[in-house]
Amino acid sequence: MTVELTQDQKNLQIAVREWAQAELAPLAYQLDAEAKFPTELYLKMNRDIGVAAIPFKEEHGGLGLGILEMSLAIEELARADQTFALSTMVAVATGLTLQKFGSDMHKEKYLPDIVAGKAVGSIAGTEPQAGSWTAGFTSRATRSGDTWSLSGEKAFITNSGTDITSYNLVGAITSPADAEKTKMSLFLVPDGTEGIEIGKSYDKLGWRSSDTHPIYMDNAKVGNEMIVGNEGDGRYIVHKTYQFARCFLSACALGLSQACLDHSVAYAKDRKAFGKTLGGLQLIQKMIADMAVKTETSRLLARQAAVKADAGTASILELAMAKYYCCETSSEVADLAVQVHGGFGFMNDCPVSRYLRDTRITRIGDGSSQIQTMIIAKELGLDVDFT
Ligand SMILES: Cc1cc2nc3c(=O)[nH]c(=O)nc-3n(C[C@H](O)[C@H](O)[C@H](O)COP(=O)(O)OP(=O)(O)OC[C@H]3O[C@@H](n4cnc5c(N)ncnc54)[C@H](O)[C@@H]3O)c2cc1C
Repeated sequence: MTVELTQDQKNLQIAVREWAQAELAPLAYQLDAEAKFPTELYLKMNRDIGVAAIPFKEEHGGLGLGILEMSLAIEELARADQTFALSTMVAVATGLTLQKFGSDMHKEKYLPDIVAGKAVGSIAGTEPQAGSWTAGFTSRATRSGDTWSLSGEKAFITNSGTDITSYNLVGAITSPADAEKTKMSLFLVPDGTEGIEIGKSYDKLGWRSSDTHPIYMDNAKVGNEMIVGNEGDGRYIVHKTYQFARCFLSACALGLSQACLDHSVAYAKDRKAFGKTLGGLQLIQKMIADMAVKTETSRLLARQAAVKADAGTASILELAMAKYYCCETSSEVADLAVQVHGGFGFMNDCPVSRYLRDTRITRIGDGSSQIQTMIIAKELGLDVDFT
């Protein structure tokens, strides 16, 4: 399948690229060093070029475009700073979840600020004792009349404690304690809800300027109207959320691979070695050619997944393949980029060293590479057990 971009899509891509290269890339080193979500920059991006509005319906203030256009924007942001792209992606993904499954009240009260890029939200699934193994989640919500009490702990939740966090979408078990199969519901928990404590920010290897915290819930009370979708449908909704989240994370990885290639080609043309340029050495050429092939293959898989997600025909297999390939190879490409840059590539002020740290987590988060390979094997008819 080939994906030929329309002129409008190319214009959007260029607009985001120009903004990201002018406003974001020059700050990426400092953002990583400060390790704090850059609220002002996020607000500025959305004032300047309205990235957060791209995939939302016009009735909610959006641009009425699709997953493909959002993926193009994320790719360009990630080419400048994957961490910023990731924070944007999570905010938009939470909004898309509300657009698809939320009630009128959720959409009227919480969606406009996400679409306008004035607020962010989080999706809180992972718990300290269980990430990939979602059946191992133990956070629970118990009902009394029209009120639910949430208790438990969530771990590693992106966007949960920024200055502009509006809500956390929290998964909690709502089936009775003696039920044979547990059912999870998804709750919209507004920022500042009593009984919710956002823990201390994690000290991370990469994605340092993304905002990541544990969430502690101690009898936090929310009304029944805060359930997103139907009671008990939390797993189904999160599954559907993966449709666009996997496209977006593929684009995050792809953008970083492209940045590695950009920097490596430029460096190889400039650096002198053995009486010629580094790029004149065949072993360097081989590394750069490998980076280019992996980047372009990632682009094909990521774009195909996004186009099909928009058409509603993306298969579980295609989404898993895109996520798996783009994220695995972005680590390989970043590693090659460090090699091309030699000792300089190991220095913190050389962008490719940050790329290597940043993209490592894409192989773990949002369904790790092992989980993606299990999905791929299952879709190919092999006997795979997820319980
Ligand atoms: C920076 C950061 C941001 C994050 N943001 C969010 C967020 O916003 N929301 C959220 O809910 N979570 C978030 N996470 C959590 C992330 O999704 C989980 O870390 C991920 O799902 C893996 O879960 P785990 O860490 O519990 O590892 P585990 O599930 O314990 O896995 C450990 C290792 O075992 C492998 N493994 C697990 N099961 C199997 C199996 N059956 N067969 C073979 N191998 C297996 C895994 O691939 C992994 O390599 C974030 C994590 C980080 C680090």
